[in-house]
Amino acid sequence: MRKLLKGILDFREKYHSHYVENFSHLALGQFPDTLFIACSDSRVVPNLFASTNPGDLFVIRNIGNMIPPFTISSACLGTAEAAAIEFSLTNLPINNIIVCGHSECAAMKAMVTGIDKIEDPFLKTWLSNYDCPIDPSKAPLIFDAELSLHNKVAQMNIIQQIEHIKGYPLVKKRIKKGDLQVHGWYFDIGKGDIYGYEQEFKKFVLIDEVEAKRICDRLDQLEKNPS
Ligand SMILES: [Zn+2]
Repeated sequence: MRKLLKGILDFREKYHSHYVENFSHLALGQFPDTLFIACSDSRVVPNLFASTNPGDLFVIRNIGNMIPPFTISSACLGTAEAAAIEFSLTNLPINNIIVCGHSECAAMKAMVTGIDKIEDPFLKTWLSNYDCPIDPSKAPLIFDAELSLHNKVAQMNIIQQIEHIKGYPLVKKRIKKGDLQVHGWYFDIGKGDIYGYEQEFKKFVLIDEVEAKRICDRLDQLEKNPS
């Protein structure tokens, strides 16, 4: 807490004037083009690793970067995640959704160890709601050989959550219209690297200049040829 308070004082002293104009614009409204879904883990810092500014990302964070599967009758009704998807796609200029998982995720480790072994009741219920696959041999993915089991599960979980998101009628409609893309990212905490899921290669590929260009080309194509 003391570090946070010192941070506020530092911000006021060093950066406040730099951001003041930006914040006065942002006070009039927010116009992010990306809905970013990440784990609550304190080490996952999208504003740092993607060099984003206030107003760039609309964010959902929870344990395990999970999205309830769409169902009219039960689980997703009334969840913060479903409400945030609905709000952002209805009110903001969102044309990209990114599900960002990460290495060494405690939720993924718990999945591997067995949810039945979790003693915290709320956490147990939360993780039980999401049938995250934990058998890499059944995954539609090619893994880097060095990945541990829980990190493979983290990548499988990202793909699973993308499928959940694509089940929402609003999302389906926008994808069909051609003005929304859903991406999977994996943040390797130890290396500080981000990997993007490439369906063509069935694997997470390091986002370097080559991969960033590949993603940009796809975005350009989509903007030129909306269906
Ligand atoms: Zn996590």
